[in-house]
Amino acid sequence: MSLKVYNTATRSLDTFEPLENGRATVYACGPTIYNHAHIGNFRTFLFFDLVHRYLEWSGYDVRFVMNLTDVDDKVIEAADAARTSISDHTGPFGEIFLDDCRTLGVRPVDRYPRATHYIGPMVDFIERLVARGHAYAADDGAVYFSIASFPTYGRLKGIDTSTLMAGARVEQDEYEKEDARDFALWKPATEMDERVGAAWDSPWGRGRPGWHLECSVMSTAELGETLDMHLGGEDLIFPHHENEIAQSEGATGKPFVRHWMHVKHLFVEGRKMSKSLGNFIRVRELLEEGYDPAAIRHLLISSHYRGDLNFTRAGLEGSRAAVQRLLDFETRLAGVTVDAMAEASELPGLAEEARAAFRVAMDADFNSADALAAVFRFVSGVNAALDRRDAVRPADRDSALDALRSMDQVLGLLEVARAARSVDDDLAAWVEQKIEERAAARADRDFATADAIRQELAARNIVLEDGSGGTRWKVVS
Ligand code: AMP
Ligand code: ZN
Repeated sequence: MSLKVYNTATRSLDTFEPLENGRATVYACGPTIYNHAHIGNFRTFLFFDLVHRYLEWSGYDVRFVMNLTDVDDKVIEAADAARTSISDHTGPFGEIFLDDCRTLGVRPVDRYPRATHYIGPMVDFIERLVARGHAYAADDGAVYFSIASFPTYGRLKGIDTSTLMAGARVEQDEYEKEDARDFALWKPATEMDERVGAAWDSPWGRGRPGWHLECSVMSTAELGETLDMHLGGEDLIFPHHENEIAQSEGATGKPFVRHWMHVKHLFVEGRKMSKSLGNFIRVRELLEEGYDPAAIRHLLISSHYRGDLNFTRAGLEGSRAAVQRLLDFETRLAGVTVDAMAEASELPGLAEEARAAFRVAMDADFNSADALAAVFRFVSGVNAALDRRDAVRPADRDSALDALRSMDQVLGLLEVARAARSVDDDLAAWVEQKIEERAAARADRDFATADAIRQELAARNIVLEDGSGGTRWKVVS
């Protein structure tokens, strides 16, 4: 058995072959932290997590790096609009992003490099490209990558560079598809850049790196010159990843990435998610509406990453039911009557079958939809077997529980559901205690303390309602 991945570069299902046997280096393009991440981003980030978990589950020694983009056109404009600096602007969004990742059970990765911490290595990288004839400094203080110097430019996207406009340049970090022009590696500082702290000294004067360069430099610094896997959303194929290849292979002369994988964009209620349609949904908003993080996780991994996925609230209800079914199943299995003298049951066979089907699904280009189907077939099979028996052998029960928990190490659904529940329990205990303290203060006619407690709760979105039966509480958004 071997892992097959659909490689954007070859447009085929390739056997995953890391550079070094048993090790896997993975670089994933993370968020631009100028704003809140939305659930579309999280389709992509949960896929990254599935890859991370499945490679580990399969026994690879994984080194996983995801960058946080804290300087680019969008960050600078957002910081300036907020009349602050890029570091003050991106700091909190970075924290919120990592917090949302924790909530949805995204395992921490080995490194989260931030672009602004790599300015020195970026300048060195550009100098290498200039020395090798792949880049040139322009009169305006910018340095451009020369597309004409890299004959395979366009191969990842499959674009024809014969229409290439030699010497034509593009400065923006993001630009129109298939616009094959020399792109900026270094940009001269504008007044706005200086205002928001996005300008550094360089051999070409004050300026800042282009977005595409950031990932080439940070991936090489953290993982070496050739990566086993590079992941991102499908919108990054061109120009971002095309440019990364040109930069990295131009600088090192070595293959940059062995396997490129791209996640299809999420739809929301049947439409592309976009600012103009106003259908951007954040994770937090769904949590405030009362949805369980495990249900969100389930919905976002319920479809193969290259297939369509339409996010709807009705779908989320279905996911909530699916997660509940898993929780109920685990509870039933853990509490089943065991008897060492019971006759042998179907459970070990079902467990074996489920693990095998799960592996086949995940080995087929991380097909999480089929992997989930294998888990739920297992749930039905074991439930039916338990319906027919009064007791099972302890070893039989353990084989089924082990299989369930092992598959969940990849899916992370029971894990996230349990974590959310224990947070809920902790919160409830804390609120109940505060309500008691407030009741005691009121009994002592210490209204200042009672009010302070009410405010402390309000700060955490908890409102109290005093009624004849005592004080009740609820969480509001
Ligand atoms: P950004 O913060 O815009 O750089 O995006 C972070 C990641 O989310 C990138 O890998 C994007 O390709 C991905 N992404 C953006 N929009 C969507 C979407 N609607 N569905 C899935 N992934 C997305
Ligand atoms: Zn990137």
